[in-house]
Amino acid sequence: MSEKMEFQSEAKQVLELMINSVYSNPDIFVRELISNASDAIDKLRIESLSDPELADFAKPGRIEITIDKDAKTLTFQDNGIGMNRDDLVSFLGTIARSGTGEFIRAMKEAKNGAASDLIGQFGVGFYSAFIAADSVTVETKKAGDDKAWVWQSTGDGTYTIEEGSRETNGSKITLHIKDRKANDDDTSYEKDYLSIWDIRSIIKEYSDFVTYPIYVNEANKEKKEDEKEEPVNSMKALWTRPQNDVTDDEYSEFYRHISHDWENPLDRIYYKAEGTTEFRALLFIPQRQPMDLFHPDGKHGVQLYIKRVFIMNDCKDLIPTYLRFVKGVVDSEDLPLNVSREILQQDRLTAQIKNSLTKKILDAIAKMKKDDAEKYEKFWQVFGIVLKEGIATDFRHSEDIMKLCTFESSDGKKTSLEEYIINMPTGQDKIYYLTGSSLKNLENSPKLETFKKKGITVLLFGDPVDEYWVNTSGKFDKYDFVSAAAEDLTLPDVKGNEEETKVEDTTVEESGLAKKLKDALGALVEDVKLSDRLVDSPVCFVQKGQEISPQMRNLMRSMGQPVPEEKRILEINAQHPLIKKIADESESSSFNAKEWSGLLMGLASIADGEPVANGKEFTKLLTDLLEK
Ligand code: ADP
Repeated sequence: MSEKMEFQSEAKQVLELMINSVYSNPDIFVRELISNASDAIDKLRIESLSDPELADFAKPGRIEITIDKDAKTLTFQDNGIGMNRDDLVSFLGTIARSGTGEFIRAMKEAKNGAASDLIGQFGVGFYSAFIAADSVTVETKKAGDDKAWVWQSTGDGTYTIEEGSRETNGSKITLHIKDRKANDDDTSYEKDYLSIWDIRSIIKEYSDFVTYPIYVNEANKEKKEDEKEEPVNSMKALWTRPQNDVTDDEYSEFYRHISHDWENPLDRIYYKAEGTTEFRALLFIPQRQPMDLFHPDGKHGVQLYIKRVFIMNDCKDLIPTYLRFVKGVVDSEDLPLNVSREILQQDRLTAQIKNSLTKKILDAIAKMKKDDAEKYEKFWQVFGIVLKEGIATDFRHSEDIMKLCTFESSDGKKTSLEEYIINMPTGQDKIYYLTGSSLKNLENSPKLETFKKKGITVLLFGDPVDEYWVNTSGKFDKYDFVSAAAEDLTLPDVKGNEEETKVEDTTVEESGLAKKLKDALGALVEDVKLSDRLVDSPVCFVQKGQEISPQMRNLMRSMGQPVPEEKRILEINAQHPLIKKIADESESSSFNAKEWSGLLMGLASIADGEPVANGKEFTKLLTDLLEK
C-alpha cells in the first residue's frame, strides 16, 4: 500500500526553490546524481569490509544511465548500498544539514543565474533532480534486506513510499523530464536531457574522473551483435596522470566534485612522495571558508585512497586540524587495503604521511606569500585565523607557521614577524604585542602611548586565537613575545629616540592618591599604581601575571574551563592634569575616594573598548562632575 508523507518544511522550501529558480547551469543535476551513485557504491564497499554478509553484494561498481525518449525519462541506476524505508524518509524527505535556513535565504536573494552556484555547497544534491524533472521515482533495495521500496514525488510538498519489486541491491532514480516551456526556446545554451549526445557530453565535462564506469544507453534500442559496452568516463584518477596532461579546467572540476564547492580553488598542491613511504597527494585550498569550519564536528577535507581504491572521506589522521580547510585526495601505495580509522590513528606510516603533507602545504603557502602577494592576502584573510591554531598545537611546525603570519601593527602597517625584527630599532630585543577584542580598540589603546613615543612598534592581535598561541609559544626566533599590557613592563632605551630629560612632577606621588584609590576600590582591583607607560591618557588597566582578556574569559567559561582569577591593576598617569587635580582634591577633607575611583575605573574600561562595569552609576558620576 502506498503511503503519502510530507517533506520536512526546510526540504519543502528547497524543493520549491529548485523548481522555480532559473539556473545559469541546470546541467549540474547529472553530476549530483552520479556523485550520489558513486558514493553509494563506495559505501557498500566500505561496509562490506567489516560486515562479511555484505561482501556477497559488493560487485564491481557500475552506473547506468538510460534515456527513454518515448516515456520522456532519464534514469540513473547504481549497484551500491541502496536504501531501506527509514533511509528514504530521513535521506530524501528531510534535510538534516546545518545551515539549510541560510541556504534558503541565500537562494531567495540570489540573482537569477547565481542560484545553481549555491546548490553544490549546501549539499542538496538529490533535490537538484527537480531542476529538470517534474516527477522523480526512486526504486531501491538495501544490500542485505529482503524488501525493496519505491519513493515518488512531484516536488509538490509530499511524497509517497510503497513496497517495490527491485531484485538487486542499489538504486534506480527515474526523472520524468519537464517539457520545455514555449518561452524556453532559446536553446543555444540549454541541453536536451533526452539526447544521448548531450548527456554524454555533460558526463564527460563533469564526471570523467568518477572511479566507476558510467554507461549511457537508449531504451528500446536493439544492441548490435558485436557492440561492446564502453563507459563514457575515462575513470582515470587525476592524480595518477602526468601533471602536464591535465588541464586547469579538469583539476577545477575535480575539485568541485570532491569539495561540493562551486568556485575554482585558490591554489592547488600536487605532491608525489617516493622513498620510505610512497604516496601521491592532490590537494586544494578553497577560496572561501567552508560553512562548518568552526563546527566541532565539521569535516576535514581529505579523502584517502589506497592504490587507486577509495577508502574513506574526511580523513582526520592525514592532515592536522589547523589545515582542515585543505581539500583533496591522498593515494597511498603502502597502507593495507583493509585499513580502519583505528589502525590509521596508530599507524607510523600515517604519521609520516601527515608530517610530509603538512610540510608540503606550509611550503606551498610560503611560496604563495613570496610570489603572489595578492593571492596570499586573500588566503590570509580567509584562513589565517585557522592556520594560527597550529602555532599552539603543532610544535614541530610552529616556527614555519609563524613565518607565514601577517599582523596589523601600531604604526598602521601590516607586518610579518621577520619584517618586524628587521625593523626594530637598536636596543629593542623583544616582540611587543597587545591583544584585544577588535583592531579598532587596539589601535586606540592608551597602552600604546609610550611605545609610540619611543618609536617601538606593537603588534595588534585582534583574533581570540592570537591570545592562545602567543601564550603557548612565547618566542619567535630568539625573541620573546611581551605584552604591552604586562604589569612589569620595562621598555628599552631605544637608539635615536633618547627621551628629553624632563622635570618630573611629584605632587601626585606625594599626595598618596594611589593608596587612597586602592583603599576605596578594595577587591575590585589588585592594585593602583603610578604609570610609566601613559603619556596622554589619565588611566589604563594592566594585567598582573598571564593576561587573559575578557573575550578569552568568556570562551573559557563557555567551554566549562576554570578561569583564573582576574588581577587587574589600575595605572594612573601622574603627569596628567586630571590626575593632578584629583590628587589636589584628595588632600581636602571632602574628598570622595569612592566616586573618583569609580570614575577612573570607568575611563580605563572605555579606553580598552570594554563596557563600563556599572554604566548607570558611571553616567551619574560623570554628569555630576560636569555640572560642577
Ligand atoms: P548528499 O549526497 O550531499 O549527502 P543528497 O541530497 O544528494 O545529499 O543525498 C542525501 C542522502 O541520500 C545521501 O547522503 C545518501 O545517504 C542518500 N542517497 C542519495 N542517493 C542515493 C543512492 N543513489 N543510493 C543510496 N543512497 C543515496
